[in-house]
Amino acid sequence: MHNRARLITASFLVKDLYLDWRLGAQHFWSLRVDGDMANNSGNWQWVAGTGNDTRPNRVFNPLRQADRLHPRGDYVRRYVPELAGIEGPRVHRPWDLGPERITIDYPEPIVDHAEAAAEFRRRRSPGSGD
Ligand SMILES: Cc1cc2nc3c(=O)[nH]c(=O)nc-3n(C[C@H](O)[C@H](O)[C@H](O)COP(=O)(O)OP(=O)(O)OC[C@H]3O[C@@H](n4cnc5c(N)ncnc54)[C@H](O)[C@@H]3O)c2cc1C
Repeated sequence: MHNRARLITASFLVKDLYLDWRLGAQHFWSLRVDGDMANNSGNWQWVAGTGNDTRPNRVFNPLRQADRLHPRGDYVRRYVPELAGIEGPRVHRPWDLGPERITIDYPEPIVDHAEAAAEFRRRRSPGSGD
């Protein structure tokens, strides 16, 4: 799993779903062939903003990352079999496929990223009490 994909996955778990980074670190630890306690925990904390990141409120936008790094969508088609038949960059937003949407067995988004990122930053802001 490429480092960038690990960064986006970790940010989504912690900053879109507000789940404890240790849950993600434990899950990665149980799966990774290159599992390394220091690298795994250190990188999860970097993403979560509890480690040595100079920008702890950084929130990775999965769609902006996809548009920027994999604009054609080949990465998604390779690793998400349910979407392998969706051509072009539309594969990044299966919920916007219109009539074609019913031909694929793929869930609706579990969170609105913009709302989640705004709520994360609200919780992190001084005086938020969270
Ligand atoms: C959430 C998260 C969890 C991670 N967990 C691990 C882990 O358990 N084990 C692990 O080795 N790396 C981990 N990394 C770091 C990095 O993702 C991997 O080292 C890298 O993707 C491995 O692929 P590669 O060997 O092709 O890396 P290359 O880019 O070719 O780098 C070569 C080597 O440099 C070291 N390295 C590269 N990037 C990092 C980095 N960000 N932090 C520390 N060392 C790095 C690794 O030893 C890697 O094998 C994690 C990153 C994130 C964001």
